[in-house]
Amino acid sequence: MQNKPGLLVVISAPSGGGKTTVIREILKSGDDLFQYSVSATTRKPRGHEKDGVDYYFISEEEFQRRVEAGDFIEWAKVHGHYYGTPRQPIDEAIARGKIIFLDIDVQGGLEVKKQYGDDALLIFIMPPSMEELEKRLRGRKTDSEAEIAKRLAAVPVEIEKSRFYDAVVVNNDLQETVKKVREIVYKTYQAKAGGLKAHD
Ligand code: ADP
Ligand code: 5GP
Repeated sequence: MQNKPGLLVVISAPSGGGKTTVIREILKSGDDLFQYSVSATTRKPRGHEKDGVDYYFISEEEFQRRVEAGDFIEWAKVHGHYYGTPRQPIDEAIARGKIIFLDIDVQGGLEVKKQYGDDALLIFIMPPSMEELEKRLRGRKTDSEAEIAKRLAAVPVEIEKSRFYDAVVVNNDLQETVKKVREIVYKTYQAKAGGLKAHD
């Protein structure tokens, strides 16, 4: 079967692992190929988060309605809130040959792989250690102690699932991580488009 030209890039990490920061840095490079998939969530906005930019912040009723309408390619309950990936931007990005980044959890990542196969690249951002992860999560100053405890408790399961990912990148130095992720993305995209092989 002929694959479609675009590429879905799923970036997952334990909370505080750095996925949002890494994606933001990559999108900053201004490559016209890059897009970001804005998820819908029932969680409340934090800090400077903007509706329609970071997430679509919606009610549980609205979320349920959209699930029933088949508006999400996948959805999951993560840390007590609902999150879903809107279908239309994904389908359009693939059809137009774009590279679209999804900041979603491991359950969502595996579901995307199941549905999209080689049209999806799964990258797991691994924190250097639990101590460093906890430090970064607290340093972000956006979550309550209860939220932080919930997020740290989920880490072992998330890391366990990373073995199903296409690539794992340890996030020591941010710029090094961004460079590695960008390289993996371009190689995969080019290999898929029938240009350079993945090992070139
Ligand atoms: P996630 O989106 O995975 O929950 P964030 O991108 O919000 O994580 O990162 C959590 C915190 O860690 C942020 O304050 C961010 O600035 C910081 N951070 C991310 N990557 C690094 C890194 N390589 N070195 C030091 N701090 C980092
Ligand atoms: P946060 O509340 O910190 O922004 O995100 C919490 C978790 O939900 C993160 O692991 C993030 O990747 C995940 N997430 C965000 N959007 C989606 C989505 O649309 N689907 C799924 N499955 N997970 C998501």
